[in-house]
Amino acid sequence: NSSLHELDPDVAAAVDAELHRQQSTLEMIASENFAPVAVMEAQGSVLTNKYAEGYPGRRYYGGCEHVDVVEQIAIDRIKALFGAEHANVQPHSGAQANAAAMFALLSPGDTILGLNLAHGGHLTHGMKINFSGKLYNVVAYHVDEKTNLVDMEEVERLAKEHRPKLIVAGWSAYPRQLDFAAFRRIADEVGAYLMVDMAHFAGLVAAGLHPSPVPHAHVVTTTTHKTLGGPRGGVILSTAELAKKINSAVFPGQQGGPLEHVIAAKAVAFKVAATEEFKDRQRRTLEGARILAERLVQPDVTEAGVSVLSGGTDVHLVLVDLRNSELDGQQAEDRLHEVGITVNRNAIPNDPRPPMVTSGLRIGTPALATRGFTAEDFREVADIIAEALKPSYDAVALRARVTALADKHPLYPGLK
Ligand code: PLP
Repeated sequence: NSSLHELDPDVAAAVDAELHRQQSTLEMIASENFAPVAVMEAQGSVLTNKYAEGYPGRRYYGGCEHVDVVEQIAIDRIKALFGAEHANVQPHSGAQANAAAMFALLSPGDTILGLNLAHGGHLTHGMKINFSGKLYNVVAYHVDEKTNLVDMEEVERLAKEHRPKLIVAGWSAYPRQLDFAAFRRIADEVGAYLMVDMAHFAGLVAAGLHPSPVPHAHVVTTTTHKTLGGPRGGVILSTAELAKKINSAVFPGQQGGPLEHVIAAKAVAFKVAATEEFKDRQRRTLEGARILAERLVQPDVTEAGVSVLSGGTDVHLVLVDLRNSELDGQQAEDRLHEVGITVNRNAIPNDPRPPMVTSGLRIGTPALATRGFTAEDFREVADIIAEALKPSYDAVALRARVTALADKHPLYPGLK
């Protein structure tokens, strides 16, 4: 019964160092967030010890009476949060949720139509060496070269030409909203299922600040750790009609025992996501991203060859276009790291630089909004980033400004 520090000082030291990193720098990876302490408490609970193959009330193991309660709470809460007819809260991750949803709806060799990875799609939407690209026949749609918006005419043309069994809408790197009704109309025209992967923007949907895909899609998948702000994990929402197919695709189709400790943490996060405080956080998330986009298209910044894809944002992230900058994506990521801001480089559509280097940055505001950042704070963050991306910059001065912001909004003050 030793503590982590007593039993394993090596791992404990790395965990402590990671806490310090999160506390002392500005986290702007668009897919990250800070889970509440209560979520981490649930995730670190004795529920990690329990096997519970099956579903609440229908398990293959004894002793499931308490985890049944937890899992049913999680199911009921997320159904209410998104107005869904059915929810499966067992997928271990977003990738697992997508694998299970496709397993439920498709047979190997069936055709899927998804957004190309380099244009903002996710690996699981049909990337060549991902399971989705290996098991299914993939046709990809793209963003328009001029507007950088998803080309719905191309979606319709490809759907009619290839008659996919599944159309996937959703993205990992796209700064605008999708037209879910238009996707559904196209899916209906060709007899395809529509699956929306709302992993990135689920928190915005929960807060009512982004259109919901739930009324339009047959299946909606999400992660629980991005804008939704919970533990790492996945969820599948669907129509009641598809409930049985989805459940048997998750277990026994794709997974064994569910992670009930993570499901408990998901349940806590769904409770938080229904609060007014969560809504306020999502509002600040959107405002922060808008401020960032505005600052990065000011003349003093564009002179350095920096611009913003699609000219702005409707969501929690900005895609910075460095095609005309001396800095490539790797160098820009390194510069921001040097001043204490964590982002990821990101390929942009038709990127002239190789995928390990790229000509873009993806910068997101959810984690800082969770930390309590206001519009005023986001203006300062945006100014720091703008300065850091110019040809000459003062790393020491910018690092000090980052530290001042981090100190102003302490993260996990109760943890050491
Ligand atoms: N779907 C989308 C749109 C994502 O952006 C991601 C992760 O980045 C995933 C699915 C996969 O989630 P996970 O990393 O939990 O497997």
